[in-house]
Amino acid sequence: MKTLKKVLALLVVLTMLFALTACGGGKGKNYIGISMPTKSSERWIKDGETMKKLLEDKGYTADLQFAEDDIPTQKAQIENMITKGAKVLVIAAIDGSTLSETLDQAGKAGIKIISYDRLLVNTDAVSYYATFDNRRVGQQQAESLVEGLKKLKGPGPYNVELFAGSPDDTNSFYFYSGAMDVLQPLIDDGTIVVPSGQTEQAEIGTLRWDGAVAQARMDALLAAHYSAGNVLHGVLSPYDGLSRGILSSLISFGYVPGEDLPVVTGQDAEAASIKLIISGEQYSTILKDTRDLAAVAVNMIEAVLAGKEPEINDTETYNNNVKIVPSYLLEPYIVTKDNYQELVIDSGYLTEADIK
Ligand code: BGC
Repeated sequence: MKTLKKVLALLVVLTMLFALTACGGGKGKNYIGISMPTKSSERWIKDGETMKKLLEDKGYTADLQFAEDDIPTQKAQIENMITKGAKVLVIAAIDGSTLSETLDQAGKAGIKIISYDRLLVNTDAVSYYATFDNRRVGQQQAESLVEGLKKLKGPGPYNVELFAGSPDDTNSFYFYSGAMDVLQPLIDDGTIVVPSGQTEQAEIGTLRWDGAVAQARMDALLAAHYSAGNVLHGVLSPYDGLSRGILSSLISFGYVPGEDLPVVTGQDAEAASIKLIISGEQYSTILKDTRDLAAVAVNMIEAVLAGKEPEINDTETYNNNVKIVPSYLLEPYIVTKDNYQELVIDSGYLTEADIK
């Protein structure tokens, strides 16, 4: 009798295990896959965790995965979510063009796909795009660069070097073209000079948004164009992780914070960069409140599951080579030493402890 009970118990466990493996551990109706590019930058951790929490509070099962900036890993994680029966996938891609086949298949299977912060290109399977006004981000980066130059470097002309983001991230192009809306007229009238002559995205891009790559390029630019007493006044940097690499390079080269250190911009209001803004090393960053973006994505998820149209505010800007993806764009904000307390701390985006 005892043996029979044991055998039956074992059978029950095996059946449960089989069922779990067969549906991959997903929770059918309410199972949502969230695929983030990397944990190496704070913002994606915040984005992912905020979305997961919002979804779980509403009774969904949220499967949050980070791909450590490795394209095959992200692909495999998404395929796994599809196998597990995800109803909606929210994806911030490492390289927006590498997932199109997988996403086309998911779309055919009725899975809804939301492009998160970065545009998924070359697929019609993406339903909506939740992001910030990316062109405006670039304009703000350049506006704060120009403001910093005027404030700290006298009347000009100014020597400036330009950095762009990862060439496989569509955002990089929106950021840079936004920055050029502001900088190109100043380059044309001689107010800004780029001594290296490097202004093409192909020359100034930073693969995988890697700070070490930006640092190495800054080292090379300094050695080639600033050794003979030519002074660098400013650097357009599109992301805090790059800004910190660039600042390390500038300081090792001999520029001194509080004296002749160039004006350096950034993006994401990362704690490490807010500290540098307070100490006067980095001039500015851009706050994109990921709590709001996560909430926009969750509204989109609920709408698509209910067969409804989510709130969108842009139907013109984001052409993914197959269609214009209906988008919701949030406002970005320039952060400097003058307003970080209100924008970043009082708003609760970071705590005092984060920036100690
Ligand atoms: C995001 C930025 C971020 C960058 C690097 C971009 O796609 O929009 O907020 O700084 O990726 O992670």
